[in-house]
Formats: sequence, C-alpha cells, structure tokens
Amino acid sequence: MTRVAVLSLHTSPLLLPGNGDAGGMNVYVRELCSALAQTGVDTAVFVRRHDNAETVVEVEPGFKVIHINAGPPHLPKEALAAVVEEFAAGVNDWIAQHPVDVLHANYWLSGVAGHRLKHDLDLPLVSTFHTLARVKAETGDLEPQRRINAEAEVIACSDVITANSVTELQQLASLYGADPKRIDVVAPGIDRAVFSPGLREGARNALGLKDGPVLLFVGRIQPLKGLDVAVATLAGLSRRYQDAQLLVVGGVSGPQGQKELQRFEDSVQRYGLQDRVKLVPPQPHHLLSTYYRAADVCLVPSRSESFGLVALEAAACGVPVVASDVGGLTTLVDHGRTGLRVAGRDPAGYIDAVSAILEDPRLAESMARRGAEMAARYSWSATALRLRRIFAGLSSRVPLDCTV
Ligand code: UDP
Repeated sequence: MTRVAVLSLHTSPLLLPGNGDAGGMNVYVRELCSALAQTGVDTAVFVRRHDNAETVVEVEPGFKVIHINAGPPHLPKEALAAVVEEFAAGVNDWIAQHPVDVLHANYWLSGVAGHRLKHDLDLPLVSTFHTLARVKAETGDLEPQRRINAEAEVIACSDVITANSVTELQQLASLYGADPKRIDVVAPGIDRAVFSPGLREGARNALGLKDGPVLLFVGRIQPLKGLDVAVATLAGLSRRYQDAQLLVVGGVSGPQGQKELQRFEDSVQRYGLQDRVKLVPPQPHHLLSTYYRAADVCLVPSRSESFGLVALEAAACGVPVVASDVGGLTTLVDHGRTGLRVAGRDPAGYIDAVSAILEDPRLAESMARRGAEMAARYSWSATALRLRRIFAGLSSRVPLDCTV
C-alpha cells in the first residue's frame, strides 16, 4: 500500500471554500484525498495549525489531517514563507514516527517545504502548483520575486509535476523551463452526486429569486476573478433585459479582497443595480448546486485560472458557461457547444456572449446538455487513480537530486 504525505501548508481541506485563502485547492485536496483513501492509498494531509484543532483529525478511513505548529495561528498568507522551515521540521518529526513513501506538495509554499523534506528524507516529490506567479504576472497580478525563484527551484527538483490542464503544462515548460517529460496533466474532478442538472424553477423558488434571467458568479472576491466584468455585463444587459439579475456567491480573499468588495459595491451603486445584484456569503460546497441550477448563465471572467472548478461545476449542473479565454477554462468551456469563451477584458464581449445564450433557448438547452455530458468525463476517482499510478511508478525510481 502506498502512503502519501500531502502538504497543504497554507490552507486546510477542513475549511469552507469561497473565502479568505480557501478556494479550489481546498476542494481539490479534500476530494482527492478522500478518493485516494478509497483506492487504498493511505493519505495524511499536513496543514499549518491555524486554530486549536486536535493535532490529528481523522476525516475518513485512510485520510487524516495533521496540524503542525509553525508560527502564530493567525498569519496572513504573505507572511507564511517565514514559517516554511518550521513547518517542514514539524512534518519531518511526524514522518520519522510514521513513514511515508511519497510527498505530494500543493502550492508553492508547500513545494518549498516538500523540496526540503525530499532531500532530508530521500523521498520522491510530486508537486501541484494550482497557480503560478509568472502566469499571474502576465495579467498584472504581481507576486514577489521570491515566489518566482522558489517555484523555479521546486519545479527543477520535483520528480513529477502535475498540471491541472494542458495550458498549465505549456506554461510550466515555457515560463519555467520545466522538463515536459516530468509533467503529467492530471485534471481535477467533480462530485457528480452533488453537481448534476436539476429543476431551474425549483432552485429559484428555493433561493427566493425574482423572475428574469439569472447570471451567477461563484468564487472568491479578489481582482483576479474579474467580478467587475460580471457587474458591467449585467449593466450592459439591462437595456434589453430589465429584469436580469446577478447572484454573487463568495467572500473576500487576499490582501486586496476588501478593496475589491468596495469596488464591487461602488459599481453596483453607480450602475443603479442595487435591486438586481445579490451578494451571498460563502456557501458550503454541497449547497452550491442549488445556485448553479437556478442560473441561466454562469460567468467566469477570471484573468487567469489553472483549472476553474466553478466552470466545471456549472457545466455539470447543466448551465452554459461564459468564461474568459484563459488557462484551464480553454479546456473546460467548449466554445459554442457548452458555453462561450471571451477574449480580453472588455465587458462588451461578455454582454454579446450572454445575450446570444439568453436570446436562443435552443442554443442554451443544447449547451446545458453538452456541458453536463462534458462534465461527466471528470471524476475524483479518475484523478485519484492517475495519481496512484504516478505514486506507484515513483517507488521504483531513484528520486531526482538537484544538488548533484
Ligand atoms: N466554493 C464553495 N463555496 C463558495 C464559493 C466557492 O464551495 O461559497 C468552491 C467552488 O465550488 C469551487 C471552489 O470553491 O469548487 C473554487 O474553485 P475554482 O477553481 O473555481 O477557483 P480557485 O478558488 O481555485 O481560485
């Protein structure tokens, strides 16, 4: 049996996503580890202790979360680079008592810890970055040079890097010089027991929505996610659809989150959309299907996106997706078939795309059906089986050593 130490330094799979530092990666770690455990891979997720949780939380047979003391509980993400060594030392102590076969690091901070542990313990390292500083920089979301350097070092010494999409594979190779032979595209999955088509009217009644087209935005409120484009899209549609509404589900995230929320509220006022925009606080993951099912269109206007779980969840619920033409969204939104992709940040492109769907019920219906069919190709058990094969393959190889 393979035993894996999953490193998730900055955020825990036990947290509610859609807020603060908790988003797609939390869903990824929780769902993947659950699926890994169910395929017989013993999975221990190491997180930094941020509250007074028990040291070990047994999530389900074969999947536990271990809290490691590293720095004071309430540290912003920007301060976490300083506690990576302490975190790695704590994980090292734990593994000394409870050996593992492989390390799987998620996000660059855990990558740095994983790189350290790989050399200390002579273990293979699998890295999944979720976001990359050089990709974010291309669209103006600047990250410290220290992060870029750290990512490059981790990439150079990871035995396998998993990319969430083909686009991410290309970015790893072109922006970081990663060896494509060491990159595997392993797509995240979806829980189809939760995310499946349902009755739109029923969902709208449950949520107390008024009549009229419903646009949905789900995600953390930070500049990268493009909530400003969603509001401008609703404003532009208003001339033709005076009863169109925008539902926003999520909470502030990151150092610019509060400012972005203020900008959102200001623009809603400026456009006079107070009665037609509803901000809903972060919802437990399994409750989101009602929100998706209530929508005519899900908007994903992100500036960059390594995968884009929201686009997949919407498609799985039979909702056409209008998304930016970036990253994993280029794979998840089949242009003209499951939704529409929009190049650039000009809301005019989004207004045209949403109008095209609202004006043509037959197109909307076929996008809904094809989206659900496309989403059916994704599952967490498939993701886990891919990773299990990768882990098993590493057991017979000598780990890469960047020091020689
Ligand atoms: N999410 C959630 N509750 C919320 C808002 C978001 O569970 O109130 C989940 C959402 O369903 C998705 C994840 O957070 O699974 C966001 O992932 P995505 O890849 O779209 O963006 P990321 O957070 O990774 O940037």
